[in-house]
Amino acid sequence: MNYDSPAEIRAVLEKHGLALKKRFGQNFLVNRHARERIAGLLEAGRDDLVWEIGPGLGAMTGLLLERARRVLAFEIDRGLVRALRELFPDRPSLEIIEGDALDTMGPAGEKRGAPNRILGNLPYSSASRIIAFFIEREIGAQKIVVTVQKDLALRMRASPGEKIYSSFSVLTQSFFDVRLEFDLKGGNFFPRPEVDSSVVSLVPASRLPPGPGRAVFFRLIRLAFGSRRKTLNNNLFKSGAFSPEELTAMRAFWERRELSPNARAEDLAPEVYRDLALTLAGIHSGEGTTDGHGLDG
Ligand code: SAM
Repeated sequence: MNYDSPAEIRAVLEKHGLALKKRFGQNFLVNRHARERIAGLLEAGRDDLVWEIGPGLGAMTGLLLERARRVLAFEIDRGLVRALRELFPDRPSLEIIEGDALDTMGPAGEKRGAPNRILGNLPYSSASRIIAFFIEREIGAQKIVVTVQKDLALRMRASPGEKIYSSFSVLTQSFFDVRLEFDLKGGNFFPRPEVDSSVVSLVPASRLPPGPGRAVFFRLIRLAFGSRRKTLNNNLFKSGAFSPEELTAMRAFWERRELSPNARAEDLAPEVYRDLALTLAGIHSGEGTTDGHGLDG
């Protein structure tokens, strides 16, 4: 089908008795040049297992099948799954997995192995949760290319002190090199969304070694950013979430780093959260409270 033609998209939807669902962020990319550029960014090769999140009617899927060994496509909308199966019949290299990707990616990974690359023109409502899933579940892809709303893309690479700097900025920058590739105005999609999108590539560059430090890190940033207007003194030290030993280690960390007692979550760089998490994790593994860990970045 001609994926650049809203009329054809409408006709396929009608044929299957489907209405577009706003809650699933169904805005199809109707610019072939942009689609090819995105597929090129993924750098998928013949040996690669690629996951596609939200294939819709398959505007990107065909391009991925041309490049990869195998594509697993996760689509929540049952009607679109039906249409997709008809548009891509007899393709042993394509497996379409119906359901919420947040529920189906874990079991698919266990069954079919980890993906080498991931691509998704992500729905607004779950984009950040899907990206956080890749991190927290340690999905070890070599490269991830996502199209998201521009404000989320900016958040992913925001720096401390910026208004949009958030726990999501800390999370993404602690695990990926985040690169804003290019913007896509609303007119590149059908139906046209109200806001612009950006294409972002994420290359793993974990600044936290696997181990207990990661769990502490996730807990730490959740607590730190829990109540944005409060200081870290309230969100961390007075949270009641830490043992006396941990509190002592945190106080020592604060002094060593000469951090302000009035610091807020949005003042601290991702590396500070990482170092603090490793310090706290060190207590439990008996490594004491030093925050020298020999990692770069
Ligand atoms: N890939 C197509 C394109 O670029 O034209 C469609 C992209 S559209 C922005 C997002 C797609 O993700 C829709 O097909 C939607 O039904 C699907 N989707 C939304 N939420 C999802 C979820 N939680 N799990 C899997 N698919 C989802």
